[in-house]
Amino acid sequence: MAFKKRFTPRKKFCRFCANKELPLDYKRPDILRDFVTERGKIIARRITGTCAKHQRRLTTEIKRARQMALLYYTTVHATEVRKKIS
Ligand SMILES: [Zn+2]
Repeated sequence: MAFKKRFTPRKKFCRFCANKELPLDYKRPDILRDFVTERGKIIARRITGTCAKHQRRLTTEIKRARQMALLYYTTVHATEVRKKIS
């Protein structure tokens, strides 16, 4: 096997389908952050396991969150945003 499961040994599943209570909202950057790399990139669906329907919504919510300065575009920005939240 060329690709070993590096950090998630459990089976992949859509987190938003599995947990209906989990809000998919730009107002929850704490959740959105799980789907974004430390450099601010949206993590691909094949890695997170999010279903097509939710991934589509996720991208729009992440982009919305960025505009509201709740999420960061780049790493440089990250420190500033974190200061604002905490
Ligand atoms: Zn889903």
